[in-house]
Amino acid sequence: MAEKRDYYEVLGVERNADADTIKKAYRKAAIKYHPDKNPGDKEAEEKFKEAAEAYDVLSNEDKRARYDRFGHAGMGGAAGGGAGFGGFGGGFSMEDIFEQFGDIFGGAFGGGRSRSRSERVNRGSDIRVTVKLTLQEIAEGVTKKLKINKTVACDKCGGTGAKDSSSYDTCSTCNGSGYVVTVQNSFFGRMQTQSVCPTCGGTGRVIKHKCDKCGGEGVERGSEVVEVKIPAGVGDGMALTVRGKGNAARNGGVSGDLLVVISEEYNPQLVRDGNDLIHNLNITVTTAILGGEVEVPTIDGKARIKITPGTHAGKVLRLRGKGLPDVNGYGRGDIMVVVDITIPDSLTKEERELVEKLSDKPHFKRAEGVESQNIFERMKNFFR
Ligand SMILES: [Zn+2]
Ligand SMILES: [Zn+2]
Repeated sequence: MAEKRDYYEVLGVERNADADTIKKAYRKAAIKYHPDKNPGDKEAEEKFKEAAEAYDVLSNEDKRARYDRFGHAGMGGAAGGGAGFGGFGGGFSMEDIFEQFGDIFGGAFGGGRSRSRSERVNRGSDIRVTVKLTLQEIAEGVTKKLKINKTVACDKCGGTGAKDSSSYDTCSTCNGSGYVVTVQNSFFGRMQTQSVCPTCGGTGRVIKHKCDKCGGEGVERGSEVVEVKIPAGVGDGMALTVRGKGNAARNGGVSGDLLVVISEEYNPQLVRDGNDLIHNLNITVTTAILGGEVEVPTIDGKARIKITPGTHAGKVLRLRGKGLPDVNGYGRGDIMVVVDITIPDSLTKEERELVEKLSDKPHFKRAEGVESQNIFERMKNFFR
């Protein structure tokens, strides 16, 4: 990269120049080197960008202070951050400049440009559809075939809206060039602006005989089956954009996009928490005391897990890597099994006698401090 010039030198101002002076100097430079005044002049374009870059820094108090202390070294990369552009290094496009500093030009350049840009093409509207996915589909990723009702290109005229290839006349507004030139007197002097012909939309021709199926629109109601590849790990409310699969545009323009919004089917057995899944497991009192093996649901079936003797309610058992894959590929979540103990609502006479016998035994006596200890243990387990 070429040696960067000093920003004050670029704008031709003193180092202690005030904001107003800097703004005026930039406006002067921007007008002098504006691409509309210097068509095809690469050097002018570079000067124009250089001035915009200098103004971006010197018009911002923070950036200016940093530049004064560290020079260009203080402006690049992560340290240079700040609002707008993440440092420079040639990343300053003409479009950026018009969007950022358009107001400086008094609207004469910036506004006119973006208007003609958006007029250039007919664009179809976007379509939004919702797709319901099961946990398993989310875990593995899935390809869905969706039938989308939408406007499609007319099959008789192929979207052109014309009866056949000889059904055209040369556009009389632009004489076939597709462009019209307007001359404006503005603050900056006389300016010529070239814009897309409003009559023919830039094609240079108009339809003489319209297609009798679509009446010259080029589109009709129809449907299309679209295959959408949904990656693993997506979440409720996420939207995937399928470019060009929305509504077709009139007269052969650009189709809109298809937005596929993910809706997750609720699974009470495995409740999602980010990439983790939470399962509430009920075990019997005897299993909690004696330990044992129980079944828990997983994404693709069931797993057996061991309950150690003396398991308390609220204990969390982690099945590592059994959760959902991260949508950005950063590993996999866990299944967290939260233990609850089922206490029988009623007992038979025999059961009652057994429990009564137990209640006199040393390990079933209420001990001082046990309760609070348990709660403490539980919290530790849960936040582990
Ligand atoms: Zn047609
Ligand atoms: Zn025209």
